[in-house]
Amino acid sequence: TEQTFIAIKPDGVQRGLVGTVISRFENRGFKLVAIKLVTPSKEHLEKHYADLSSKPFFPKLITCNGPIVATVWEGLDAVKTGRSIVGATNPLASTPGTIRGDYALSMGRNVIHGSDSVENAKAEIENWFTAEEII
Ligand code: ATP
Ligand code: MG
Repeated sequence: TEQTFIAIKPDGVQRGLVGTVISRFENRGFKLVAIKLVTPSKEHLEKHYADLSSKPFFPKLITCNGPIVATVWEGLDAVKTGRSIVGATNPLASTPGTIRGDYALSMGRNVIHGSDSVENAKAEIENWFTAEEII
């Protein structure tokens, strides 16, 4: 079954949205196969966001603002469906009913990360979890 990497970002953790996010994925029928609270290093975030290294907001992206909740979810078309649950990057464009559409404050404080392709999901899961940490 397809897997996707979903992370509740520091702003989401600080605002107490961990339970809400997890509920939405559970309610949609996804199976939780890995979860942990981690404070990532700058190097770890650099690796995660490597494809955005040329962006002007990159330095901000790789600055650790506190712990994140890293998760892996399994289900039918988990990557695409996961992205639809997450919603659009820009809160101005994110539809109500999506996580960002209901909770995001700004581009930089948009609560959650979701893998955007099956290939990236694989790489992200490997970057955040060891094989033993995935059920
Ligand atoms: P994510 O990868 O976190 O799921 P995304 O795939 O919707 O988000 P990306 O283009 O991969 O969007 O950007 C990664 C993150 O970088 C965004 O979630 C957002 O927090 C931040 N970001 C993207 N574009 C901007 C921008 N123009 N200004 C500030 N921050 C941005
Ligand atoms: Mg992305």
